[in-house]
Amino acid sequence: MPFVKVVHLSFIILLLSCNIVYANKAQQAPFKPDSGTIAVHCGLLIDGLSKKAQINKTIVITKGRITKVIDSSAYSGESLDLSKHSCLPGLIDTHTHMAEPLGTEDLAYFYNISDEDIFNSWIDNSRKTMDAGFTSVRNLGTYVGWSARELKEQINKGKIIGPRMQIAGYYLTKPAGGGDLVIPGYDEHKIPKRVRMGVSENIAEYRHNAELAIEGGADVLKVIASGAVLAFGGVPGSPEMTYEEIKAVVEVGHKAGVKITAHAHGAQSIKDAIRAGVDSIEHASLADDEAIAMAARKQIAFSMDVYNGDYIASAGVEQGWPDEFIRKNNETTEAQRQVFTKAYQAGIPIIYGTDSGVYPHGYNARQFLIMVERGMSNMDAIKSATSRAAHHLGWSDDVGALTPKRYGDLVAVKGNPLVDISILQKVDVVIKGGLIFKFQP
Ligand SMILES: [Zn+2]
Repeated sequence: MPFVKVVHLSFIILLLSCNIVYANKAQQAPFKPDSGTIAVHCGLLIDGLSKKAQINKTIVITKGRITKVIDSSAYSGESLDLSKHSCLPGLIDTHTHMAEPLGTEDLAYFYNISDEDIFNSWIDNSRKTMDAGFTSVRNLGTYVGWSARELKEQINKGKIIGPRMQIAGYYLTKPAGGGDLVIPGYDEHKIPKRVRMGVSENIAEYRHNAELAIEGGADVLKVIASGAVLAFGGVPGSPEMTYEEIKAVVEVGHKAGVKITAHAHGAQSIKDAIRAGVDSIEHASLADDEAIAMAARKQIAFSMDVYNGDYIASAGVEQGWPDEFIRKNNETTEAQRQVFTKAYQAGIPIIYGTDSGVYPHGYNARQFLIMVERGMSNMDAIKSATSRAAHHLGWSDDVGALTPKRYGDLVAVKGNPLVDISILQKVDVVIKGGLIFKFQP
């Protein structure tokens, strides 16, 4: 086993070939993935699948994938000493927006944003996401069409430090709907096309734009079934797409083997989306009992951003976000948390999704605490961000659990998150594909 040297600096990648590359956020990170072997000794192991944590286990990762997980006493080689830590699978966020800067207080910003500004924000966002322990994300749409696709490519090539990504391309939304970047009073003709690529007037246009999204490389399709909180006009939850329109997108997606997720706050739009055949619901803030029963029966996943209402209520007000956004946020935060409890109790698969991008990237793990406060067991909260999320994303062969054959993606925290879930807010160690991206034990 090669000796694994650990350097106590936050922004360092330790190459297993013993080349050390300093990667601050402005630099590219020319690392070569999938090289060498690393062994990690974990005081506590929460593997993402088992019902209970295990003690003193060593995870061996070779060429990026886990080869074995054994009792540390049975392992004689050098290993990274995390005996005072809990190890978990690299965390998964099924709802992020990493490919653009935060700009909610002035949406017109996106009209003239330069490619360079987008590029610089990527580097920052994806690094912060990794540092928070999220080694896989599903990026659910960008205002600037396809900016996430390039980010994904750059990460996969090893040119930018960031998580494994699935992308939705652009938002499939009605004109002036929750995913359309029109601003009241702004001359529509001056709005660049690239921020309105998924805007669709009718069933045929939804179908066509969904096909273009798949041709363009979308891993998942995102429909805006009902009004958004952070958008002008509309009521959160009031249907913006008809059942037939959602169904048209579902047909295109499923034919291509791609899942469809619906942004839906309101009960009616959640039910329309489920009947139309979507695979998951984002937000689900105002689901009624019938919608919850329907989702539970069909095992439609809910991804509920139950933390970010707190952020908007404080920072949004401080930063002078539009009153309309703040009001809609207040109307949905507590209601959504009550729905969360009911959905969990009803047995709906809850997948961890934060809508990160609404608040600063890197805060992703703050949501765990709200989920547990609202009745979820610590272990289920962890599974929602590991094996359950991986299963939904179709990535169970690769991520979401610390078991042989999957990628060597793991995080470590001090203490036991099964006792105190909030410690996941400070991840000390991040390893992706057997490479150490963060080490601050
Ligand atoms: Zn979102």
